[in-house]
Amino acid sequence: MVRTLLLAGPLSRAELARRLERSPASLTKVTQPLLASGLIREDTAQTSEARGRPGAPLVLRAELHLFLGVKVTADEVYAVRTDAAGRVEATGHRTLDDVEPATVVDQILDLVKELGRPGEIQALGIGIAGQMARFDDTVRGNIYLGWDDVPLGPILEEATGIPTVVSGDARALTAGVQWSGPGRGTSDFAVVTVGVGVGLGIVLGDTVLAGPTGRAGMLGHHRVSASGPLCPLGHRGCATAFLTTDAITRGIGVPHGRADLDLDQAIELADAGDAVALRVFADAGHALGVLVAQLVNLLGLPAVILAGDGLGMLAHARPAMEASVAEHLDPHATPPSVVAFSSGFDEWARGAAVVACQWMLVDPPGAEPA
Ligand SMILES: [Zn+2]
Repeated sequence: MVRTLLLAGPLSRAELARRLERSPASLTKVTQPLLASGLIREDTAQTSEARGRPGAPLVLRAELHLFLGVKVTADEVYAVRTDAAGRVEATGHRTLDDVEPATVVDQILDLVKELGRPGEIQALGIGIAGQMARFDDTVRGNIYLGWDDVPLGPILEEATGIPTVVSGDARALTAGVQWSGPGRGTSDFAVVTVGVGVGLGIVLGDTVLAGPTGRAGMLGHHRVSASGPLCPLGHRGCATAFLTTDAITRGIGVPHGRADLDLDQAIELADAGDAVALRVFADAGHALGVLVAQLVNLLGLPAVILAGDGLGMLAHARPAMEASVAEHLDPHATPPSVVAFSSGFDEWARGAAVVACQWMLVDPPGAEPA
């Protein structure tokens, strides 16, 4: 119910009962303790009826519930404090000297100290690359930090006293996009991220898809072409081989003898008409288009949101991407809207805070799902 109010509120009791498929009597059973705890309130400003009358819509008191979200990259840590609606109140940032778990934990604790309000933070959400289950406590299979089975949640919980949940970063970003970002109000969409890796989050029927293992959405090594460059795992023509920032900058930099080229410099080369740069960006656009079209073919999604710090590639990759979507879309599929969502790592951290909020308010640890 909290989730329904967050995503669609304020709602009248009648509308809430209809959406939750509950009788008015059973709805009252659920709302009374939430009203008593102050988690929700009657929005008397929206009705002429007296306070407490059934006509008053119910609204979540988002401002009373604070969460911290943290995004860990291979060299930086970003943190935000949000309310339950995912509104950012404060941000913080640290640079990592190394990727030892102890170093990363120290920096996160420093940010918790900086942004946390003692006793008021309900949960801490960590968004990090890896193969985590839906509400996990352990970092698994993070190739960028070389971490596997690092119990980051328990370590942070012990040090802070704040309940902590660990989530795959693409899924966390997607949760934030759905909760209070550009996906709000859209029931079905995918978020495809490009940057140091290729990530995917899927929302179907207003729910972020986790799959039976909790790890749905492994798109990074999906093969998009029978030819093309090799990814670090040795796949020819997989998404990673075309789309990561490293793949693009190496693809352009190496033929120019500039192995240390960054994405902005690669874009500048393409701006100047460099043939190698234009071809690499076109190949990336083609690969991205294949992914978008196949997601739409498989799931019938009306919208795909592109995000990530590698999104600058679209300056030169977009025409090839659009042609590739058209080429690979099933003739019976409805063309999706493809939207670029430019955002910094704070947005990834915000998604992790949303995951923490969902974990605490929607699926509290140890409780039956509401
Ligand atoms: Zn691969």
